Formats: sequence, C-alpha cells, structure tokens
Amino acid sequence: MLVKTGYGTGPYRIKHIVRGCTCPCSLDKFNMQTPPPSPPHVHMILSDPDGRGEFYLGWYDEDTLQSVARSYDGSDEDCAIPASKDVLIILPDDRPVQTTLF
Ligand SMILES: [Zn+2]
Repeated sequence: MLVKTGYGTGPYRIKHIVRGCTCPCSLDKFNMQTPPPSPPHVHMILSDPDGRGEFYLGWYDEDTLQSVARSYDGSDEDCAIPASKDVLIILPDDRPVQTTLF
C-alpha cells in the first residue's frame, strides 16, 4: 500500500505496521519526566515505492488517519497545539502485484 503525508512527503510503501501503540509524544518525552500516553496510534516502517530505503512515520490514528502527535508552534516552549494537522493519505497502488521476477 502506498501512502503520503498531508505535508507532501512520500509516496512511501508500507512494509510493516505496529498498531495500538500509546507511547507518549516525543516532545512530551523530551519536556516531561512522566509524559502522558498518546491516544492509540500506529507506527509504520516504509520504503520508497520501489522498495528502496527505510523511512518511519508514526502517531496516526488508524481509523481517521489523522496525526495524534502534538507539536509546538515554536513561540513558547509550553505552547502545545492539540495535534498537528497532518493526515495520512492512502494512494491507489501504482502497479499490479508482481508475481514473477521477469
Ligand atoms: Zn507510539
């Protein structure tokens, strides 16, 4: 399956997906001693569309495809906006499944 982000990065091919994670937002881990858990989300290991490279995306709600990661606007270290506006976009597959090598 091919995906890209609302920020325009990608497309990427999903190689592995981890579901049901509630790990704290990385900014909270950096800023807090006991960061609160995030809403349930997925993490993905990705490659480029041809299967090369290794990329990571995470903190997306699997049902809404919205990012659950909170981000900071940079003006004040305590100024957290509730969630980034990022959304995962699922693309139609670009080619049929290859069943033979040649
Ligand atoms: Zn997580």
